[in-house]
Amino acid sequence: MKSVLDDAEIRRILVITAHPDDVDFGAAGTVARWTDAGIDVVYCIATSGEAGGSDPSISRADMATLRRGEQTAAAKQVGVHDLRFLGYPDGRVEATLALREDLARVIRQVRPNRVVLPSAERNYARIGASHPDHRAVGAAALDAVYPDARNPFAFPGLLADEELEPWTVREVWIAGSPAPDHYVDVTETFPRKVAALGAHVSQTGHMDGLEEFLRGWLSRAAERGGLPDGRLAEAFQVLDTA
Ligand SMILES: [Zn+2]
Repeated sequence: MKSVLDDAEIRRILVITAHPDDVDFGAAGTVARWTDAGIDVVYCIATSGEAGGSDPSISRADMATLRRGEQTAAAKQVGVHDLRFLGYPDGRVEATLALREDLARVIRQVRPNRVVLPSAERNYARIGASHPDHRAVGAAALDAVYPDARNPFAFPGLLADEELEPWTVREVWIAGSPAPDHYVDVTETFPRKVAALGAHVSQTGHMDGLEEFLRGWLSRAAERGGLPDGRLAEAFQVLDTA
């Protein structure tokens, strides 16, 4: 297993995702461990998830409001109270310079030591992990970590007009990577991950056996990570970005 920065060296973590519920499928058990350890965690969500759900009687504007509320409730389950929604169109996110600037702005505002972001690579083994919005946000977010957030000459208005000083993120954790190399034991926080996913009623309300599905998925990850029998794990690919 890849060695990572000690959590004692980490004060703030920024989790960047494409949609409401992404963080809860991929990383909520790990987030709960971090907030339990006194680390401040902030969520930045590129879209409001208005293309989700299956009820055609709900307007897409109402769906966006609903899903922002669901993500806010889910975040509370794992100790996160600071959420920033960027309002990009669900299903049509591209890794543009505008998205890079928006993400670099949030990184400079939050000043995280560690950033969690989606994989820009397609994972052929898990098609759901490779939603085009995930890949676009993953690519733009890693570009925002390096070079944009740390380079004073990248998006110069951030410094000149908004007084946002450059910031270097020390470590990136990629969720949904085809090549995970770090596994976090989330056995103790698993009930809060389940509760967080349950808060996304418009997405998970119809799923029978969600907890069992998650238990199977996370126990296979724990096995791949070499954890003892009966443990549950979330998997990441960790990059040294210092
Ligand atoms: Zn998603």
